[in-house]
Amino acid sequence: MKREKRTRKRTKVKTPGGKTVWHFKKRRVSHTLCGRCGAKLNRARLNPTQLRKISKVKRRPERPFPELCSKCMRKVLKSRVRV
Ligand SMILES: [Zn+2]
Repeated sequence: MKREKRTRKRTKVKTPGGKTVWHFKKRRVSHTLCGRCGAKLNRARLNPTQLRKISKVKRRPERPFPELCSKCMRKVLKSRVRV
């Protein structure tokens, strides 16, 4: 039998019927990081399937440069205005 690629952690669990079965752990989604300083953003940690189910407003902040943290956003905004 061809060996399957293991990407998820497994644990053996004994069922009430006495059988031992493998349970596969779900992988935790990593934090979204600021594109400039790398700080963790306060954002929902959801996988792509769950992200599709929530509204766009809840996915990211409704301000300019949503990929940056608020501190970096202010710095970038000021630097663009002051040219
Ligand atoms: Zn930042």
